Parts: sequence; C-alpha cells; structure tokens
Amino acid sequence: MGMISKLVGLLFTAAGVIILMMMGTVPDPMMSAIWIFVGMVIITIGFSLINAGRQTRQMKPPPPTVTEIRCDNPDCDFKEIRNFESGDYILKTLDVRCPKCNSTMTIQGVYVVKEEDEGKSSI
Ligand SMILES: [Zn+2]
Repeated sequence: MGMISKLVGLLFTAAGVIILMMMGTVPDPMMSAIWIFVGMVIITIGFSLINAGRQTRQMKPPPPTVTEIRCDNPDCDFKEIRNFESGDYILKTLDVRCPKCNSTMTIQGVYVVKEEDEGKSSI
C-alpha cells in the first residue's frame, strides 16, 4: 500500500514537472499562469503521497515495556520484572504481596526493552 502511494506520488510529481515545462510553449500568459498553478498543485500532491507512503512504512508497534517491582522490606531482596500494564508508574504501591516475606511491593522502574536482535531470533 505504501509502495503504491509512493509510485503514484512519483507519477504525480513527474506529471507536474512536465506541465511546468510545457506551459512555456503556451502563448497566452493567463493560460500559462493557470498551468503553472496546476503543475504546482500536482507536484505538491505527489510529494505528500511520497511522504505519506514513507510514514506508513515507519509505523512500528510500540516497543515492549517492562515494569520492575521490588519488595518494600529492606531485609528482603525480592525483585520481579513483568510486562508493563496500563496504570503502572514508578513508586506505585501494588496490592500484590511479596511471595517471600509477604510485605507490600512497589514499582521501582518502568523500562523500554530494545529488541535489536528481533530478526535473528526467528531463525
Ligand atoms: Zn519480600
């Protein structure tokens, strides 16, 4: 879809350039001005189509985010990393109790995970 709109955009831009070049042969200055305007509009449409195609291609799903949860008990070192859930924020106290000492647990961090080996992992 993005490829097609880019191709159409290139055709529009080329057509606009051809119109701008050909309007030099029109003897009537009024007609010449109209053709310049038409050519400019077509080139603008062409460029916006090329850019629209580019934007669609760059659309990526949001990177995976994880939440780091730590036990509030200073004598306990329990730490858990789980998938980010909406409503998670740093220093939020959770209803979940520590499985080790049954203390309350607090979100200590929210991280975006970079998956640089995304393509390789599927092999
Ligand atoms: Zn604990």
